[in-house]
Amino acid sequence: MNIVDPMTSNTLRMSTLFLRTLREDPADADVDSAKLLQRAGYIRKAAPGIWTWLPLGLRVLNKIEAIIREEINGIGAQEVHFPALLPREPYEATHRWEEYGDNIFRLKDRHQADYLLAPTHEEMFTLLVKDMYSSYKDLPVTLYQIQTKYRDEFRPRAGLIRGREFIMKDAYSFTIDEEGMRKAYYDERGAYERIFQRLDLKYVPVFAMSGPMGGSASEEFLAPMAIGEDTFALAPSGKAWNVEALHTPELPEVDASHTPAMDTRETPDSKTIEALVDTANRLYPREDGREWTAADTLKTVAITVMHAEDEDHDKPWREVIAVAVPGDRQVDMKRLEAQFAPAEIEESTEEDLKAHPEMVAGYMGPMVFGRQGEAAGVADPVRFFVDAHVVKGSDWIIGGDETGKHRFHAVYGRDFEADGVVEAVEVRHGDMSPDGSGPLSFERGVEIGQVFQLGLKYSKALDLKVLDQNGKAVPVWMGCYGIGVSRVLACIAETHHDETGLAWPSVIAPAQVHVVATGKDDKAFEGAEKLVEELEANGVEVIYDDRKKVSPGVKFKDAELIGVPTIAVVGRDFVNDGTIEIRDRDGGNKVAVPADEAVKTLLERL
Ligand code: ATP
Ligand code: MG
Repeated sequence: MNIVDPMTSNTLRMSTLFLRTLREDPADADVDSAKLLQRAGYIRKAAPGIWTWLPLGLRVLNKIEAIIREEINGIGAQEVHFPALLPREPYEATHRWEEYGDNIFRLKDRHQADYLLAPTHEEMFTLLVKDMYSSYKDLPVTLYQIQTKYRDEFRPRAGLIRGREFIMKDAYSFTIDEEGMRKAYYDERGAYERIFQRLDLKYVPVFAMSGPMGGSASEEFLAPMAIGEDTFALAPSGKAWNVEALHTPELPEVDASHTPAMDTRETPDSKTIEALVDTANRLYPREDGREWTAADTLKTVAITVMHAEDEDHDKPWREVIAVAVPGDRQVDMKRLEAQFAPAEIEESTEEDLKAHPEMVAGYMGPMVFGRQGEAAGVADPVRFFVDAHVVKGSDWIIGGDETGKHRFHAVYGRDFEADGVVEAVEVRHGDMSPDGSGPLSFERGVEIGQVFQLGLKYSKALDLKVLDQNGKAVPVWMGCYGIGVSRVLACIAETHHDETGLAWPSVIAPAQVHVVATGKDDKAFEGAEKLVEELEANGVEVIYDDRKKVSPGVKFKDAELIGVPTIAVVGRDFVNDGTIEIRDRDGGNKVAVPADEAVKTLLERL
């Protein structure tokens, strides 16, 4: 018999494979993928959020990378490879050396020069293209790499899902105009869909915060699962949004022709919405018999927008604004901040408010802000914004701008106007979806990829220009596109397992068939050896449990833990009547076939 040569063969022999499976879950593993990938010997923890790849893990990782390469090469992108260790300067030019805060690993070389371990590579790609290209004729070009990234995550968790060292595919497109950028974006997006489908990983493209340029400039691909840290809102149409990107559909105006005139009333000790509703019901019961509720009140809050320096300001500056939201809804600072990006916001501090005596704590209302503030004689009134749920004609109890006073029947569009409409409140289960297809529901997911129309941000910051057809130097339009490769592997493990172990989709399993030889009889091992050899001759990747003196029970447990899709058992039945048992990893589809038909049966099943 022609024994398979262990030095050149593609078969993993359990007798020599560098593997030690664990019966118990590692103490600090917090999610199933982290438990099982360690127990089954795919990865090993080196430090918090930092992982060592073992032979089995590396095989799966390589297969995922191969699928990504195929699809990304397929859209005409070219692979390059940058260093992970980079100098400070390019990140200084885009302000990210500071902006990343504690999230990057910074280090010094022996000459005290600053370096970092790259968290992502926009700067380097931009500079590379700048270095080599100078004409519109050179474009479009899309470059990518599959490379190790470093982020000093505050809380590394969930094994490979949030690591401090992790593997990312990052691609960057360079085009002469906006239209080209969009095409590159949709090409990349299409490749993402094919990648995740081939990997059998469920995904939802989620409209992400698109920043100040508006439109659908970015989408995140989320793998829906309960352990996810990201919440997304799902419409009945199947469209999904990340909560920061959700916009409230236009709500119908209210007819205010019968709303009484606005009047100011005494409302002692009514600083909170709860106290105000109580006061209103006690002192001013409604004529229609229903009670006043928080939804009848307009809560006005003082927010400080922290602007960067601009033409009129030679250093960063703080602008106090007022934002009004329905009293029954909470302000969502993240959603609100998205409206003012790239500026950040915070609740106004006491210091900020010293300059604004018109803003009376607990009794703040719209009448002293914006246009109506001007009319009321306030010098230089602050800008005033309403949340999108405040519709024209709606009737509110608003702050009276004096301690112990509120105004009743203040109508938006009649008594006060706003300088703008913003998304300022938390989205609720049941709110109408932006596309009007019905009420929103919320799900959790893990971000596995993101596609981004960057526009001119990096080309401007790093002065990447090319000459256009008229010989004029113009900035290059860019897009960037990431996939968390090691995170994807963990997400597949997270969604493909049962209580006994992993259950890989066959395209990325470390092997297609797990051959188990059992019993003390050499005949079984000879039969298994022959099967392995024939499978290998047919190009099938095999894990072969050729361990002597290991019980069948242990071998079966290991096979289930490792998670190869098909298991073939060569044991007592083979010795007695020459049959081999073939079954799926989950025990299903079990058949016993004569040994000489085993290869044919297996090939048909694969
Ligand atoms: P997150 O919001 O999860 O921190 P991100 O939006 O900061 O991710 P990107 O900068 O968009 O991440 O990076 C591209 C991809 O890299 C992400 O879509 C994700 O799949 C992956 N990724 C990001 N951070 C990590 C990490 N700490 N560990 C593993 N993968 C990561
Ligand atoms: Mg992202």
